[in-house]
Amino acid sequence: MKSYDVAIIGSGPGGYVAAIRCAQLGMKTAIIEKYSTLGGTCLNVGCIPSKALLSSSHHYEEATKHFEAHGIEIPGDIKVNLEKMIARKQAVVDQTTGGIDFLMKKNKIDVYEGLGSFKDATHIKIEGKDEGEIEAKNTIIATGSKPSNLPFIELDKERIITSTEALKLKEIPKHMIVIGGGVIGLELGQVYYRMGAQVTVVEYMDRILPTMDAGLSKELNKVFKKAKCKMMVSHKVKSVERKGDEVIVKAENKKGEDVEFKGDYCLVSVGRKAYTNGLNAEAAGVKINDKGQIEVNDHLQTATKNIYAIGDVVRGAMLAHKAEEEGVMVAEQLAGQKPHIDYNLIPGVVYTWPEVAAVGKTEEELKEEKVEYKVGQFPFKALGRARASGDTDGFVKILADKKTDEVLGVHMIGARCADLIAEAVTAMEFRASAEDIARYSHAHPTFAEAIKEAALAATEDRALHV
Ligand code: FAD
Ligand code: NAD
Repeated sequence: MKSYDVAIIGSGPGGYVAAIRCAQLGMKTAIIEKYSTLGGTCLNVGCIPSKALLSSSHHYEEATKHFEAHGIEIPGDIKVNLEKMIARKQAVVDQTTGGIDFLMKKNKIDVYEGLGSFKDATHIKIEGKDEGEIEAKNTIIATGSKPSNLPFIELDKERIITSTEALKLKEIPKHMIVIGGGVIGLELGQVYYRMGAQVTVVEYMDRILPTMDAGLSKELNKVFKKAKCKMMVSHKVKSVERKGDEVIVKAENKKGEDVEFKGDYCLVSVGRKAYTNGLNAEAAGVKINDKGQIEVNDHLQTATKNIYAIGDVVRGAMLAHKAEEEGVMVAEQLAGQKPHIDYNLIPGVVYTWPEVAAVGKTEEELKEEKVEYKVGQFPFKALGRARASGDTDGFVKILADKKTDEVLGVHMIGARCADLIAEAVTAMEFRASAEDIARYSHAHPTFAEAIKEAALAATEDRALHV
């Protein structure tokens, strides 16, 4: 039986990054993955394929709606070839997952294909292509998550679908009903409305993106409404039924009235849940909480001290970069280092266009915590760069402590915000004040100038260009 310093179960961004960091730190490392491709949800059916389709559909929208204003005329009809678009997405996925194979070889990490399950705290059984058993001094559980469902919905995976199926549809829906106005619903809803589908978003809470700053929800809601999407907030879904090619969604509105939506596809995007099926965690003494997550302490250690868990399978945001940070943290702890993650500074991004991005506290959280704060906001439409490219929707909002001026939260919606948020994270990591950001130079003309201007507005209400 082969013996390892560390075995990692699951090869998503949590697992494969943990494996690389363990190997870099000199540990003999194995990774076990039940599917034939590495990369987990993120690379196979999550971040990467969804961004490929968002990019393709964005190009289509640019070509059909915005090229003309730039003086670009395309004779004849511009059409979507969905089959080709999905094939390109798959090629991007294949190239990316292939890259992880390369990284495993480069770092001399042994890869086992099969379902990993605990025999005890130091032995893992592998069932599948690489059948067998290995011994590991330490194990990192990185088994990720799967889509959640509502108890009364039967997912047929043809017309009543999750994100996994929505990434490989064979036709453009005529009317897609999206249950859940969170990240997945809005990203994939936008992919399909851009290609001509009517999209109805049915959200239980009183606003889309209910966990983000309310200002961002309001602005993105406007964008979807402008695209003629029906945004049905404060609607509680009661049933979903399929009749032939038709899907009927029944919900109750705020007034208690019954409302019915008829479409040809229904995307269920009401969150994801931790995945531990088949792991046999109990055999190793690992505890699972009532949400189905693996219980860990601040060091990501489970109830069994040589077993750790990271990523979507534990508490916290279900984000690839959060999983990666946790993978690195556990590896470094195993090597005797003292790493630390500031969870408040894990950014959140929605890759719609305009992009939505945030880090730190929202206004709602600061109010609840009774922190006195000031707000500096700057609209993209006042930026030369935004007008030059025609991307004038959105704003940057900086929340700073009223007394100390320390930046407590940055919330933005607009072009390239997914990348711009890195500046806010850096500033907050170094505990910058709004005035610090306002005083350093930002290249002109850039979208990043909106951050400087919002910081100026927060400092002494002295933005220059409004
Ligand atoms: P996962 O990526 O879920 O990987 C877990 C792996 O473990 C899987 O490969 C699974 O097969 C394997 N596994 C499970 N049990 C076993 C077992 N017993 N034996 C062997 N293998 C096992 N996050 C972002 O940060 N940015 C985005 O843009 C983004 N977009 C997303 C879009 C979609 C449509 C979806 C669904 C998710 C998106 N996410 C995004 C979330 C992101 O994918 C997850 O947060 C991330 O993949 C979690 O990583 P992980 O390593 O914890 O688990
Ligand atoms: P989510 O938590 O972002 O959104 C789910 C939405 O469904 C919420 O707005 C919630 O109020 C709503 N909802 C819940 N029950 C409902 C009901 N009965 N009826 C109507 N609405 C209901 O979850 P998601 O969009 O499914 O995404 C799952 C996870 O994947 C998220 O945690 C997210 O972090 C991750 N993800 C991240 C990205 C990204 O980083 N860009 C992209 C996709 C997914």
